Amino acid sequence: MSHTIDTNTIEKAVKMILTAIGEDPDREGLIETPKRIGKMYQEIFSGINKDPKDHIKLFFAENHQEMVIARDIPFYSMCEHHMLPFFGHAHVAYIPNKKITGISKLARIVDTYAKRLQLQERLTTQVAEFMMTEFEPQGVMVVISAEHLCMSMRGVQKAGTQILTSAVRGVFDTDPKTRNEALELIRMRP
Ligand SMILES: [Zn+2]
Repeated sequence: MSHTIDTNTIEKAVKMILTAIGEDPDREGLIETPKRIGKMYQEIFSGINKDPKDHIKLFFAENHQEMVIARDIPFYSMCEHHMLPFFGHAHVAYIPNKKITGISKLARIVDTYAKRLQLQERLTTQVAEFMMTEFEPQGVMVVISAEHLCMSMRGVQKAGTQILTSAVRGVFDTDPKTRNEALELIRMRP
C-alpha cells in the first residue's frame, strides 16, 4: 500500500510554527524552509503505511539452519513524543527454519519501521514480530541501541546516553546458550 504525504499542509503548518516562535517566515533564510521540511518529511516518514512484506523476497533453503546476524545496521527514526530524531544501530539475529532472505533485506525491514513516528521499544518489537511471522524461523533476536535527541538537547540533557532495547523470540528466548552466542557475536569487535 502506498500513501502520499500532504506536503502543502506541512508547508502551511511549518509557516505557522515559524510565526508562533517569533520568527519571520518571509526572511531570506526561512523562505524555502517550509518547502524543504515538506520534502524531507516525505523521505523520513516514508515508512508510514508501508508494509515491509512488499519489499522483501523469501527463499526456501531447507538446509540452512545456522544463525544469521546483521550487525550494526544504522537507522534514523523520529520519536513520536517530541518529533525529534533518535538514531543508532540495530542488530538482527535469526536462525532460519526453511525461509531466508538476502542480508540487505534485514536492513530494509528495520528501515521501513524506522521511517515512521516511533518509539524505540515498538521499533524493536515490530522488527522481531515481523520476522517471526514472515520467516517462521527457529528464533529471532533484535537489539537496538540509540541516542534520543529529545534526551540530549532538552529535558534531562544527557548527551551520548545510549538506550538499549531487545526483543527475543523463539529459540533465543528458550535457550540461553543460543542467546549468549548471538550476544557475543553482536559485541565482538575485530
Ligand atoms: Zn522523545
